[in-house]
Amino acid sequence: MADKDETYDVIVVGSGGGGMIGAYAAAARGLRTLIIEKSDQIGGTTSYSGAGLWFPGTAPTKRAGVPETDFEVARGYLRAAVNDESRAELQDAYLAAGVELIDELERNPRFGTFEHQPVPDYYHLLDGATAHGRTIFPAPIPVAEVGDQATIVRKSIYTERYGHTEDEIFVGGRALIARALLAFEETGNGELRLGTALSDLVLENGRVVGVDAVSGGEQVRLRATRGVLLAAGGFERNAELRQKYGTLPGTADWSDGADANTGDALLAGIAAGADTDLLDEAWYVPGLVQPDGKPLFQTGVRGGIWVNSKGNRFVNEVRPYDQAGHAIRDGERDETGSHAPSYWVFDQKTLSRDGFGGKSPETPIADEWFTSGALKKADTLEELADVIGVPVDALLSSVKTFNEYVEGGVDEEYHRGESAWDGMFGFIVGYPALPEQNFVVPIEAEGPNPLITSIGEGPYYAATILLSDIGTKGGLKTDADARVLRADGSPIDGLYATGNTMAAMSGGVYPGAGTPIGSTLAFAYQAVKDIAGE
Ligand SMILES: Cc1cc2nc3c(=O)[nH]c(=O)nc-3n(C[C@H](O)[C@H](O)[C@H](O)COP(=O)(O)OP(=O)(O)OC[C@H]3O[C@@H](n4cnc5c(N)ncnc54)[C@H](O)[C@@H]3O)c2cc1C
Repeated sequence: MADKDETYDVIVVGSGGGGMIGAYAAAARGLRTLIIEKSDQIGGTTSYSGAGLWFPGTAPTKRAGVPETDFEVARGYLRAAVNDESRAELQDAYLAAGVELIDELERNPRFGTFEHQPVPDYYHLLDGATAHGRTIFPAPIPVAEVGDQATIVRKSIYTERYGHTEDEIFVGGRALIARALLAFEETGNGELRLGTALSDLVLENGRVVGVDAVSGGEQVRLRATRGVLLAAGGFERNAELRQKYGTLPGTADWSDGADANTGDALLAGIAAGADTDLLDEAWYVPGLVQPDGKPLFQTGVRGGIWVNSKGNRFVNEVRPYDQAGHAIRDGERDETGSHAPSYWVFDQKTLSRDGFGGKSPETPIADEWFTSGALKKADTLEELADVIGVPVDALLSSVKTFNEYVEGGVDEEYHRGESAWDGMFGFIVGYPALPEQNFVVPIEAEGPNPLITSIGEGPYYAATILLSDIGTKGGLKTDADARVLRADGSPIDGLYATGNTMAAMSGGVYPGAGTPIGSTLAFAYQAVKDIAGE
């Protein structure tokens, strides 16, 4: 039996974006709130992220000059992109919650002000897609302002995996998490327990009344009188579940999600009677294999082409990452393409112009890229084909066809360089974004389309592209208030889910930059309002 001190109004499982913002919103409403976090750091995959939030119609977008009417336009765009009526209610709740939540957070100085930056929507051919996009970002915060607590905020993926030095200022996901932590603590109603992992949900008379968890090796029972919010990410780091649900690839090593996201909350929800949806889906991204053999989220390719193991191009390489990721996934799934691995083939001119592996052209490529085999080099394309093991004729033909597109500027197969998103990487935007759209250095064009430059003289290079993801997106089925549902559609009282623990409101697509974290925040907020009886 739990003693009195182990009883809370709300228990939040997981401390990523949804967990932290949900916990803050609950504690700010006077609810005694406990966050349990499996790892010894808070932030989950959210900490790795840029924390872009796809939130149309919010105050920051209006401050940036995006028209008032954009909210309704965005609703139509979202409907069209997801194209699944069964998710319409979730979408409406998402959109409304985004506006309300950002207003609420901006009222607390701890959150500072969010800022809109123009990231073009990902389905540019749909009505309502815009080049200005609807993505907002949290305000950076100096590490010194976070104080001692800064050490418990999960580091960036670059620091964790590659030992990069951390900046003196938290940006993106780390800023969001750190700000939420400070705000949560200041409510005086919150408690955080690190190293405490949900194992089961406690049910009494069909209602969830608490959690069983393992804390410091001990089994504990923690009670929640008002509700339990599952915000424990997806199951991206659980190979067994990936295989069971057909979530390609069947390994957990290619994901960019946080290590602890092994689907514990999903399994606990299923054991409590919950229905599930979209379990074979993920927020797919292409991953560039690094010298340690693991892929890392890659987007914004500007030169060279990607070929699959048959030596054929199969996608617009600049396409929004989720669509490029799905193209790799689909080639694997229908066994026509064998797209993982694929190879990014480029010439010396591209390397000298763009650099490689996130480094500037002036920075020599570290030896480990070559010694590990993550990057291969050859004097001729024939030799390169041999080194990477793709048919020579097919590679030569793919390069020849691509080079033929340079003069006319049209990629007749995959339409590279024709959308505002693509243009962001090459400055060829055909329709205007807001003036500050200025993410990258313009590139010198060989022809009318700067994103189609010829593959010319050697030496040539090939890097490996695998199917990666930034989280799974299938999970527990919920209603618009984030209440977890049984197969008969009835809610399991006291149980809520958000983020990658819930089945995504966006179905199998990624409408715009910031949909995953937008979703985890929005449905955490919906859950808390329902718990608070608002
Ligand atoms: C490099 C990178 C950049 C990205 N950029 C963006 C972006 O700009 N915008 C965007 O929308 N998305 C972005 N994403 C994707 C996004 O970060 C994730 O999909 C999202 O953060 C998931 O949020 P979440 O709240 O569901 O889970 P998470 O943030 O992963 O949090 C889950 C937490 O639950 C904990 N947990 C797991 N199991 C248990 C358990 N049994 N008990 C207790 N705790 C548990 C975990 O340790 C973790 O702390 C990016 C991802 C990466 C890798």
